[in-house]
Parts: sequence; C-alpha cells; structure tokens
Amino acid sequence: MAKKYLMTPGPTPVPEDIRNEMAKPIIHHRTKEYQAIFKDATEGLKKIFKTSGDLFTFTSSGTGAMEASIVNVMSPGDKIIVVRGGKFGERFGEIAKACGVEFIPIDVEWGSAPSPELIAETLKKNPGVKGVYTTLCETSTATVFDIKAIGEVVKKTDALFVVDVISGLGADNFENDAWGVDIAICGSQKGLMIPPGLAFCSVSEKAWKSAEASKLPKFYFNFKKYKKAYLDTDTPFTSAITLVIGLKKAVETINNKGVDAVITEHQTQAKAFREAVKAMGLGIFSKSPSSAVTGVNSPAGINADDIIKMLKTDFGVTFAGGQEALKGKIFRVAHMGGIDKEHTIESIKALEQALTKLGYKFKSGIGTDTAAKILK
Ligand SMILES: *Cc1c(COP(=O)(O)O)cnc(C)c1O
Repeated sequence: MAKKYLMTPGPTPVPEDIRNEMAKPIIHHRTKEYQAIFKDATEGLKKIFKTSGDLFTFTSSGTGAMEASIVNVMSPGDKIIVVRGGKFGERFGEIAKACGVEFIPIDVEWGSAPSPELIAETLKKNPGVKGVYTTLCETSTATVFDIKAIGEVVKKTDALFVVDVISGLGADNFENDAWGVDIAICGSQKGLMIPPGLAFCSVSEKAWKSAEASKLPKFYFNFKKYKKAYLDTDTPFTSAITLVIGLKKAVETINNKGVDAVITEHQTQAKAFREAVKAMGLGIFSKSPSSAVTGVNSPAGINADDIIKMLKTDFGVTFAGGQEALKGKIFRVAHMGGIDKEHTIESIKALEQALTKLGYKFKSGIGTDTAAKILK
C-alpha cells in the first residue's frame, strides 16, 4: 500500500515512536508509576505553553476546555468580548450563550486578524467586561492573530485574557505568561502529535481570582478539583492513561528539540508550502497566514472539493476543505505536529498532478522545486 499523507488541521499524523508507547500494556492510574508519567507530561507541556502557572488535563476534545474556560471563571449575567473571525471564534459565542453569559461580538472578516485597537476601544466602551476570548490560529481561515499585542491591551484591564491555542501551539509563536494570557486552551490532536481525546487549560493567578467568585454550574470541568488532584495524585477522575503516556513521549520529543526549534521547523514548512502554491499561480486565502495551516484559494473554474477528492482517491493525500461560505472555494493544508518535510513535498507533488489532471495550467514542477529550495 502506498504511503498515505494526512495533512488536515486535526487530527494530524502520530509518529511511530509515540504510537509504540501507547501500544504497551495499560497500567493503573492510581499508582506511583502513572503519577510520575502524568507529572512529567504536565510539567513538559508547561514548557511548550511557556507557563509556570497551573495546567490541567481533561478527557475531552478541545471544545471541552473551551467550555471549561467559561464555566470556571464566569457567573450568570457576566459579559465577555468574543472575537469572531471564523468557526472557532464563533464557538466561544455559542458556548457563552449556552452558559448564560452575555457576549459582545467583535466580528472580523474571515481571513483577517482583529486589530488590537478595536479590542481596546470595545473594552473602553464596555466597562465591567469580565473577559476577552480569542484564538491564536483561527483554523477555519488559517489565520494567525497578534495575541501578544492583544495581550498588552487586555493586561491593563480587569478582564481575563482567554486564548484558544488548539491548532497554533507548536507552530505559531506563543508565550502564555509573557503575553499575559490567563487561560490558554489546547487539544491533543494537532500540534501535540497524539490522537484526539485530551484537552488542556492553563490557569493564571488572575484567573484563579475569578474562579473563586464564579457561580456558573460545573462538575467534570471544575478547575478546583483538578488543582487538588494534581497536588495529591493525578486527575480527579480516571485519566485517559494511554493518551497521557503518548503525551509524555510527544512532549519529550518537542522539548528535546526545543519548542522554538520546533516552531521554526513548522514555520519553514508553512513558508515552503505557501511559496510553492504561489509559484503555481494560486492565491493564499488569509491576510495573516498561520504557520499551523494554510488556506489556498482554488483556481477559477475548479471546485476545491474536487481537488480534495482527487488527492484522496488517486494520491492518498488528505487535505481539508473550506467551511461555510468557503466551502468549495479553498482547501486547507496543515503544517503542525507530526507533519514533516516529506509530507510537505509529497503533498505538493500530488497537488501538482491533481491540478494538471483537472485542467489547470502552470509550469510543471515549479511547486515542488520552490518548496525543495526552501526546505533544503
Ligand atoms: C480543532 C479546533 C477546535 C476544536 O477542537 P475539538 O477537538 O474538535 O473540540 C477549537 N479551536 C480551534 C482553533 C481548533 O483548531
């Protein structure tokens, strides 16, 4: 069977050594052996977040941690600002609504990043806002936001700064503590190179103060339970033992290289991919392209979903499509986690062949040559 290339922005490929760790016989979680693994995984992950604060692990997909970031620090009737520049920003608004938290949307054109000035103005106009909720990489539009600059703005207020780094962590620059982030949310199946099933929240001192006052109902996702359990043993409920064992290995892999070196690698792959498709005459969708994922405009007259279908059936390469209004108009290709140079080159090679079959004209081999020069 020919090798397959999973190039979607979650799930991402799980490297063989991590799969092998997870294939070992399961152990019990209430043991010294497991607790040491859990502590190593957590402390290692803190280095990747660049935080010295608390970091909790839940058994859920990333959205569970998004919900945790609201129910733990808000009370009924509280007001938050939600930046909506794509599907995942919108999700924060949907969760707030479901939880009885009012939100003020800052709507950003899909593919653009929000201006920190607009966030500053909105905070000024709405005193008493309890939090600003936004995203490092808005995966649906492959757009990176200037979290550092927004952090400077939010830092000066009483509002909490909550950032979804689910797809961006490990590919786009991120510094939890230095950028004034109070809660960062992550999931396991993107830059962290393990299967779906774990979600994470970092929690700052400022967030703990809000947690003390919070009156929204919570049970499974209660930060206080996780804090107590972490100090005593491991997790308040059964750990996703196998995934945590994978996480420990993944985190070691990243920290052995150094998180900054890993980010640079993915930035280089993203650049190689973008330059390759540009050389082929295609356009990049985002005005602020992320290094975790690239959105590419489909050429005139060709539906992006036809490209995706052909890549999958004829070449074993999986790209993701556009969502909502972008369906059929763009395709999205990830650079995060276990996606390496080989994935990047092979997917460009396949894209060149698929586009040729679909009747698109460009200089044959220009994409692969351009990427190879950047990746050498
Ligand atoms: C993937 C993703 C999510 C959702 O995660 P699930 O694991 O599907 O719940 C949320 N936000 C961003 C930015 C993502 O990329």
